[in-house]
Amino acid sequence: MRVLVTGGAGFIGSHLVRSLLSPGGNDSPGPDVVTVLDALTYAGNRANLGSAVHDPRLRFVHGDILDAECVTALMAEHDAVVHLAAESHVDRSIGSGRAFAATNALGTQTLLEAAVRTPNPVTFLHISTDEVYGSVPAGSCPESHPLAPASPYSASKAGSDLLALAYHRTHGLDVRITRCSNNYGSYQFPEKIVPLFVTNLLRGRPVPLYGDGGQVRDWLHVDDHCRAIRLVLEGGRPGEVYNVGGGQELTNRQLAERVLAECGADWDDVEYVADRPGHDARYSVDWSKIRDELGYAPRHSFDEGLAATVDWYRTHRAWWEPLVGGRPAPADR
Ligand code: NAD
Repeated sequence: MRVLVTGGAGFIGSHLVRSLLSPGGNDSPGPDVVTVLDALTYAGNRANLGSAVHDPRLRFVHGDILDAECVTALMAEHDAVVHLAAESHVDRSIGSGRAFAATNALGTQTLLEAAVRTPNPVTFLHISTDEVYGSVPAGSCPESHPLAPASPYSASKAGSDLLALAYHRTHGLDVRITRCSNNYGSYQFPEKIVPLFVTNLLRGRPVPLYGDGGQVRDWLHVDDHCRAIRLVLEGGRPGEVYNVGGGQELTNRQLAERVLAECGADWDDVEYVADRPGHDARYSVDWSKIRDELGYAPRHSFDEGLAATVDWYRTHRAWWEPLVGGRPAPADR
């Protein structure tokens, strides 16, 4: 199989590429070719791919998913697309939503159009988010739950989900969608809550907590997410959406407590800041469909995964120090 990974130099994408290429570490044989298409925005970094850059099966294309000519040429050379390229930070979308509408909605449509037009059959796996369901006061959303996004980020992702499903219904394209909860792990850009908190504490700075810190998020180790992506790529059904959860719901306050403990800090290092506008109180996905159909279950416990993540940031200062600077902004993804 020849796989095109958009956004493969970002956090989740780089983990996925390494997992696709790693010998023995996977439950199934890897692809023959993996092509990364990445525009290398502030969030993308070729170095995230690590030693995978030396793998002869990997090709790196520095390009934009909005570039129809580039995308069309690449589509003709691949059997599957895992589409992760996106503007991904909610706070940035509140500051300015334009790049989110462009990359997340129009960029996805550009890829879908190329996938429909290419003569070779293409499986299109679109990576979405639990945020498209909006705030969930109680219980957990199944895939059939109506979409009610609150931020420009989640609205642009919901738009891309609907476009992907429309290309399946109208054109018969083999589209599959995953909607996952909050990922954490190594190589995450230090604007998102876990690496933001960790890198602040490692620099002796306070961590900013939105509002009362009562917002609830489910935590998914990035390696569990990548395994779920592979399961859907290999065994998922066309036209279907699969929620992916980590099985660890925490309030942001509880998350802060765990990170503080891991970093040897305490509540004196927490700075309460004004809440994010339109802040969703709780996300929760029902992931029984991917469990029952494809045998997915998270393998990482949050405590073990967080300890390893903090350790990675502690020992990889050269990776994140050039990326931080100025006053840290609050975040919860
Ligand atoms: P990220 O911000 O770390 O990486 C995004 C990557 O996309 C970067 O490498 C960037 O250079 C690239 N990119 C951005 N615009 C591009 C464009 N126009 N053309 C080509 N490449 C472009 O994001 P992430 O956290 O790895 O998230 C990956 C995907 O997973 C996104 O679609 C996101 O919505 C989704 N997701 C992430 C999380 C999470 O917790 N991180 C949760 C749910 C869903």
